[in-house]
Amino acid sequence: VTIKIQVDRELCIGAQNCVRLAPTVFAIDDEGLAVVLPGEVPSTADVLAAEHDCPTHAITVTDGES
Ligand code: SF4
Repeated sequence: VTIKIQVDRELCIGAQNCVRLAPTVFAIDDEGLAVVLPGEVPSTADVLAAEHDCPTHAITVTDGES
């Protein structure tokens, strides 16, 4: 399954929960906000955990087909 991950940088506060939970998927950039790294997602579960754990709900995970 292909999933699509987005970070709403207007909402992100740089709490880094996502980076802790899925360090190969998320990173913090120069502005101190999260970005989604390119490439394969090794674990959908980690990404969903990050989505769930983001304090500002800045992470959206959708089915890649939609
Ligand atoms: S967990 Fe949410 S607020 Fe924290 S860095 Fe990631 S996207 Fe931003």
